[in-house]
Amino acid sequence: MANPERPEVLAYVALGANLGDARASVRAAMQGVAALPQTRNIACSSLYRTAPFEAAGPDFINAVVAVSTRLTAPELLLNLQRLENGAGRERAYRNAPRTLDLDILLYGDARITGPTLQVPHPRMGERAFVLVPLAEIAPDKVSSAQLQAVASQEIERLV
Ligand code: ADP
Ligand code: MG
Repeated sequence: MANPERPEVLAYVALGANLGDARASVRAAMQGVAALPQTRNIACSSLYRTAPFEAAGPDFINAVVAVSTRLTAPELLLNLQRLENGAGRERAYRNAPRTLDLDILLYGDARITGPTLQVPHPRMGERAFVLVPLAEIAPDKVSSAQLQAVASQEIERLV
């Protein structure tokens, strides 16, 4: 039986990769996120290709997934970090090329301002590679003004 004390929360997770087979990494991570304990998949965006933004290396593959989860936000972050580590991620320096980056964008209506976790993600509004896939699966979470603000950033939906 599901744990009655834990409410199900709708969370949005951004995925990004730009090393190795980035498409395969993002696809595998989508399945990995959906397979987390006490978590079920609600929606997956398309994959998108974007030029590096304040980052180095090849183009990024990005996507956003919606999950319904009974994990707390810190538990979800810990599980995402395990998936990142499992994908062989090494952080040489901030914004270094990475095999896999998983960020919590939204966790229900929660506002979290801890030292290791901030939700909504503080930089999501600056990034087309987050807003465009998020708008695809959750149009009510992204305003047209927000999309306008990042319209100059190149992003291509992959088919
Ligand atoms: P970025 O995602 O900004 O490119 P990292 O993935 O290296 O960089 O994240 C650095 C730290 O950001 C993580 O160790 C984590 O504690 C913190 N962090 C803060 N808020 C979030 C969030 N909403 N989702 C994921 N990580 C977050
Ligand atoms: Mg991250």
